[in-house]
Amino acid sequence: MGQAVRVGGSAWSALADLVLPRTCAGCGLPGHLLCRRCAALLARPHLATPRRFPEGFPPTVAAGAYDGPVRPAVLAFKERGRAELAHPLGTALALAVAAVASAVPGPPAEVLLVPVPSSAAALRTRGRDHVRELAGRAVGELRAAGLPASQRRLLRRHGRVRDSAELSAGQRRANLAGTFALTPGADAGGALLVLVDDVVTSGATLTEAASVLAALARPGGAPVLGAVVAATPRESSRTRSAAFPKASAGPSGDRADRLSGRWPRD
Ligand SMILES: [Zn+2]
Repeated sequence: MGQAVRVGGSAWSALADLVLPRTCAGCGLPGHLLCRRCAALLARPHLATPRRFPEGFPPTVAAGAYDGPVRPAVLAFKERGRAELAHPLGTALALAVAAVASAVPGPPAEVLLVPVPSSAAALRTRGRDHVRELAGRAVGELRAAGLPASQRRLLRRHGRVRDSAELSAGQRRANLAGTFALTPGADAGGALLVLVDDVVTSGATLTEAASVLAALARPGGAPVLGAVVAATPRESSRTRSAAFPKASAGPSGDRADRLSGRWPRD
């Protein structure tokens, strides 16, 4: 009896899946956690190009556009507690990481996924760190595809940040300045650094995080890179992705191809 009383959120949602009909978190189609059509929208790695492209924005690949059915799918995972979406969304993140890492010349380096830390307030509200969940899933997918990858918390937040929802891009940057710091004893060990987050919109958060993380990048090596599940689209994004051929071609591009074929069958 005692055990039943202590059933946690994820156990409860697993039980709910057994009794309640499942619907696609993107389009509402019955039967799938994320239907094939919606999953395919997250298998389109491209360079993220925020509208105002902040100076210092790290080269960032998004697995899909933050638009259409992708938005409710990400929000269901992030805000509505559908933690089981970590599987398909983490796979999408892995695809983005593989694509951005494959653009770095030379033999594949060890990739360190660095989750963008959520604010303390957001962590309290959600009761979980959804970006770390995504990063953990992505690491598993990358390793399964033969890419040496791990996750490390190298950034922490400090200071007080206003809720950025109603701020302009410029205000967001000012709001974020000084938000991130390296964790005590942070060390990247010469690995390729890839900042990971769920979504990129204005690019201010990734820019600020990358500027702090840059202190750990190998001198003379690749800069800090970024990978996200989805990016707010803009008109010229197709042109930009055309100028990024290595993301989907070449020996390491094969890994990205393999990853894109690893969608769950449920
Ligand atoms: Zn769907």
